[in-house]
Amino acid sequence: MTTRSRRYVELTTVEAATVLGRDSILVIPTGAVEPHGPHLPLATDLVMADALAAEVVARGSAAGHDVWLMPALAYTKSDEHARLPGTMWLGADTVLRVLVDLGRSIAATPARRVMFVNCHGGNSALLEVGLRELRRRFDLQTFLYSGPPRAGESERGFGIHAGHVETSMMLHVRPDLVDMTKAARAVPDSIADFEYVGFGKPVRFGWLADDFFASGVVGDPSGATADAGAAYFEDNVGTVVSALDEIAIFDPGRVR
Ligand SMILES: [Zn+2]
Repeated sequence: MTTRSRRYVELTTVEAATVLGRDSILVIPTGAVEPHGPHLPLATDLVMADALAAEVVARGSAAGHDVWLMPALAYTKSDEHARLPGTMWLGADTVLRVLVDLGRSIAATPARRVMFVNCHGGNSALLEVGLRELRRRFDLQTFLYSGPPRAGESERGFGIHAGHVETSMMLHVRPDLVDMTKAARAVPDSIADFEYVGFGKPVRFGWLADDFFASGVVGDPSGATADAGAAYFEDNVGTVVSALDEIAIFDPGRVR
């Protein structure tokens, strides 16, 4: 085949059996379809994951890596948004079975390396479970990059959803889908004062998006800018492209 495409689904069946090899890295964007406040679309995580993964594959292949872009997982574990309008969510058990079935199919190709590029925080813990399932069941080398939830200064550690980072990145990637006139700060200041219980604190807690605010926003999108979004995007892409050097050779069975 020519080098025209690094999209897995644009291969033919013959190419899928011959072009891919043990060193091929299949990159799977992982998004969500769930509320992101009144200023962002339901597909925010999906749009970001697709854009990040596509850029990683473009730059990675230009740098000589055998990387392939897979279609995104769009519907995922968004149960924390189950009670808000617009959500299309799968249960944790369903998503895990999807991951296992996907792993089985990947193991039937010559490729042995899979990386998820995840932009929905609600998937992170489950994807880690999936990495181990795919490793144990199918002997795949499995990797996960979850976009860093770096919070804006006014978010007090709660910039986790539709806040400064996500809104800025969307202003960079798809500004036509952002309405900044509706972007409003929604930070649960009272629980931010808890010392031990919270996001990134010693004790975690179960939560639903509407425990905090009816808008589903948890963060402060009001100061988001396309420039900040470009910097976040570049930071994410740069990290993953740099990581490809290690992902291409890493084998936990050979680390001593
Ligand atoms: Zn999101």
